[in-house]
Order: sequence, then C-alpha cells, then structure tokens
Amino acid sequence: MSIERLSDLANPATAHRVVLKVGSALLFGGGDGKPNREWLAILAREIAEAAARGQQVIVVSSGAIALGAAKLGLAKGGRGSLADAQAAAAVGQIALAGLWSELLGEHGLTAAQLLLTLEDLEDRRRYLNAAATLGRLLRAGAVPVINENDSVATAEIRFGDNDRLAARVAQAAQAQAVVLLSDVDGLYDRDPREDGARLLPRIEEVTEAVHSMASGSSGSGLGSGGMRSKLQAAEIATRAGITLAIVNGTHPRPLERAVGSDTGTLFLPTRRDRARKAWLGGRQRLKGALVVDAGCAGALLKGKSLLASGITAVEGDFSRGDPIGVRDESGKALAQGLAEYDAGEIERIKGRRSEEQAELLGYAPRSAVIHRDQLVLL
Ligand code: GLU
Repeated sequence: MSIERLSDLANPATAHRVVLKVGSALLFGGGDGKPNREWLAILAREIAEAAARGQQVIVVSSGAIALGAAKLGLAKGGRGSLADAQAAAAVGQIALAGLWSELLGEHGLTAAQLLLTLEDLEDRRRYLNAAATLGRLLRAGAVPVINENDSVATAEIRFGDNDRLAARVAQAAQAQAVVLLSDVDGLYDRDPREDGARLLPRIEEVTEAVHSMASGSSGSGLGSGGMRSKLQAAEIATRAGITLAIVNGTHPRPLERAVGSDTGTLFLPTRRDRARKAWLGGRQRLKGALVVDAGCAGALLKGKSLLASGITAVEGDFSRGDPIGVRDESGKALAQGLAEYDAGEIERIKGRRSEEQAELLGYAPRSAVIHRDQLVLL
C-alpha cells in the first residue's frame, strides 16, 4: 500500500514512520519573540495521537536560533552573522529541546534530542550510525527531536534549512513520509498572494516548471526555508521513494485539518531506489562534475555505466571514490555517482576508447568512469 492522498498520512499501514518538520515561523508565530506554546502543545497532542494509532514520528524542529536570539537580545533574529546564529543556536537549543521534552512528556512520550550536521549524513559511515540510532530510539518508543547542529556547522558544511535536513533524515530512518508544516496551504501555481493562484494538490515530479512556481525566501524572515528549499527537499525524498507533503501549520490542529480536509500538496515518489542508492542520490555536496555528449547521456538513461569515450569535460579536483555530478552539454544535471578515477586521470582518458586508455594511464583501465552500481539518475 502506498500513500495516495493526504488522509493516508494518518494510516499506520501506509505511513508507519513519518518525519514532521516544524519551522521557526510557526513556532514563533506570535511575533513577541516567545515560542507559541499553546500551538506547540496541540501539535504534541497530535503527535501522541499518531503514536497511539501505531505510527512512529520523528520531529525535525527549527527554532533554536530564534529562541536563542531572543534570550541574548541579538538583532535580526540572530541571523545577522554566522557567529550570531551559532551563539544563538547554542543558547536556544537547550530551551527548544526542553520545550519538546516537556510537551511530549505530557502525553507520556519521551523526547530524544539529535543534533546533526550535513557531514553526518553525507559520510556513509556516519549516516549509517545516525540511521541505527534513529531506528533504536523509535523501537524504544521515543520521539526523536532533530535539529541541525548549528553551533558547530560552518557555512560550507551546513544544510542551512531544516527542509532538506528533514528529507535526508527520512531517508536515514527509511520513513514513508515527510510532512513539512508551512505557513501556506501548500504549493501554488504562482505566488499565493496573486489573484487566481491555485493550490496544487498532487505533484508527480518536481520538474523545472514546478521549480519556477516557487518563490525564494521565507515570508516571515525567521526561518531560512521558503518554498524553494521545500522543493529541494521534495526532490531528495521522492527520489528515495518517500512521499513528501506540504501542509498549513497555522491552523490550531494542523495535522487533523490537512488530513481531514485533504488540503495540502502531496509530492509522490518518483521511484524506489534501494537504500544505498537513495543515500547516494540525496548527497548534497559534490566534489566535481563530468560533462558528457548526447550518446553517453542516452546510454546513462538506459541504465549503462558512464564510459570515458562520452566525456567532453572534467570539472573540479576530485579523487577516486568522491561523489561527482554528471551534466549534458546544455548544462542539465543528469546523474550523480562515485568516480572510479581521480579528476586528472579522467582528464587524460576523456573522449578515448578503452583500447587507448591503458597506454594513457599506464595501467589496465577500470570498466567504467562511473559504474552503474555507483550511479543515480536524477
Ligand atoms: N536550524 C535552524 C534553527 O533551529 C533553523 C533552520 C531553518 O530555518 O530551516 O533555528
């Protein structure tokens, strides 16, 4: 059974494990710098109801920076500089975790805090560790409450938004669904403030046309998400076989309302990669790229490995085993995978047939530049 409509999100048979992302704008909706406790208490009740139905819920909660900034009296909600954000998060995270622990505790649920960085989910070994911890916590009946480890992650190694973090966490936890609570009903075909804007209930694939519907920044200025990062999250999730929903969190009982009235946008999985390929396809930081000709692009789409003969350019300084992207000559991203050679070696053998490669390399060539087992189409 798969998730076909929003009501399936409340069904343990279709959505046994669900990641629920709560953004800063909703947590601090009151505008007084204080968390919206009443609303959060109702959400905690909704989580408890899901648990009682037999669902396992993982919470990805923002709000550390906003909470800490209010406590420290920092300007711009703590987002004036990276140092401000990191200091604010260190202070705010304690309060945030405490709040969740208290509110979930009122329903007999135990909260478990996990602070993750981008690298924790990019590195295969650390990713598996995080996955194992999540699995153990859920089996023990705890509710993991996750945030990015903002105080230690620097600009280059940050997700920066909890939307993509939620999608990556869902992969690690092998969840069936991600629910992003937003301040609008879902994805509209244009800016929702414009006349005639239409809510899109189902998206089969996040195409360029879908991306162009999203406006960039967060409306409130509190979070860092906005619709664009929600679509990136949808891509990560749906490629890994996970359904992602955007629903309106501004209602008093947001989950019940979304599920009951079928209001929101559902992004359906585009395929079901096996766990390792799903991790590979969701990697956020690539070390370089290969540009390939039309013949090679066609072969990749048929499930073939990437061979040197079809490569027209090599970008970046990567080593064997590093994650790299593959683009066609128009610049369209086609795939990502793990390189079998260092960038310099590929530079030497690009455009060459396998017979010529041994001489250029000084050793017998490998069967491919990216083997199809290490390649994920986008
Ligand atoms: N991790 C940030 C926080 O706790 C929020 C990131 C986001 O806005 O998505 O404040």
